[in-house]
Amino acid sequence: MKISIIGGSIAGLTTALRLQNTGHKVSVWERRSPTSSGGFGMLLDQKTLNHLTSLGLDLTPQLQKVIIYEAHDVHSGRIVRHGLDGSFAIQRSTLIDHLRKKINTSSLNYDFEFTHFEPTFGNSIQRACFSNGHKIEADLFLGADGVRSSVRNTQVPGPDLPPVKTVEIVGISEMDTLPPKSRNTFKKYIHQDRGIAFGIVPCGGNKVIWYFQIDNNKWPQALGSLQQRNQWLIEELAHWPIQVRRIAMSGGLENTHLWRTTDRDLPLQFHRGNTLLIGDAAHPLLTFTSQGVGSSIEDAVTLGFLLDEYTNNPHRNLDDCLSKFATIRKPVLQGHLENGRDLQQRFLGLRPHCLDTYPVSA
Ligand SMILES: Cc1cc2nc3c(=O)[nH]c(=O)nc-3n(C[C@H](O)[C@H](O)[C@H](O)COP(=O)(O)OP(=O)(O)OC[C@H]3O[C@@H](n4cnc5c(N)ncnc54)[C@H](O)[C@@H]3O)c2cc1C
Repeated sequence: MKISIIGGSIAGLTTALRLQNTGHKVSVWERRSPTSSGGFGMLLDQKTLNHLTSLGLDLTPQLQKVIIYEAHDVHSGRIVRHGLDGSFAIQRSTLIDHLRKKINTSSLNYDFEFTHFEPTFGNSIQRACFSNGHKIEADLFLGADGVRSSVRNTQVPGPDLPPVKTVEIVGISEMDTLPPKSRNTFKKYIHQDRGIAFGIVPCGGNKVIWYFQIDNNKWPQALGSLQQRNQWLIEELAHWPIQVRRIAMSGGLENTHLWRTTDRDLPLQFHRGNTLLIGDAAHPLLTFTSQGVGSSIEDAVTLGFLLDEYTNNPHRNLDDCLSKFATIRKPVLQGHLENGRDLQQRFLGLRPHCLDTYPVSA
């Protein structure tokens, strides 16, 4: 069976590697260039790391173990600490590079932007078309093209994306020194009524990934041009502890990235005919629980298992196999969705805030 994956980020690459490992014929079609991986970093939990190890990735030297979560109430100065069992920070580019190196180069195609599927009678797609005029044929198409997925819009639209309620401004800073304790502590500074939080995740050596989490209804400036945003951030930082100011300013605000974080109700099915959605294309999750990456990797592992079973079964039926994917994944994803929404409501002040409730992994 020929499998084409549209989108070559975490979900697309992990699925390609998993399928390649058991002999499936798979190709990846990514709109970005091979030199661009973008993004800063992420937290992985032990289960996600075990999945990556089982796929043949040894990330140990690149991982920063994070063992403490420390929530600071900026107003009162109160600090609450929790132990984090098995959390690891990694730079996004490192994870993407490791995945790419394991996949046959001939299977990876860059600068291919999917535009549409050729119309067919019935649900089964034969050809995907790209903006450069190229067309590909496959028996199974996997849409791994992220939150605003074109594959999803054409094949499995489901519920609309709701309006964005929180945005994140993310950056990376290399400090001159980082106290030993800060090297494995994930810190979050919370300004309870201000609608802003600041997170710091150590990611190896003196480097930290940091982010402002912002209620964009309260602070529409966060959605302005880079210049307007930075002007506002510089003024805003005056209200924050010196540690926060030092970290945010030392990376250079011009190198930050703005995330419009959102989620979406799960569709009834993740597939239609021979097109299946995976990763954020299927189930965008709010960043409060840090489950986006782990969920994409779990999709890859689950799908790999189901497609192995499908190809080895003489009485196979693709529709049953893809339905089974939704049956297995939906209850887990629904839990992450609800958890993320609860944490977002607390952050927005719509439910009582509690310093003691901490994100599952970040
Ligand atoms: C540039 C970037 C940086 C990120 N940085 C971070 C980060 O620092 N921390 C974090 O926790 N999460 C980050 N994420 C999000 C994280 O990767 C996802 O939430 C999660 O891993 C799910 O991954 P995904 O592969 O489903 O989606 P995504 O990671 O969003 O990947 C979707 C991929 O599809 C490609 N694509 C989109 N449309 C098309 C098209 N029409 N044709 C072909 N290809 C297409 C995109 O270029 C992208 O590579 C980032 C995502 C991106 C795209």
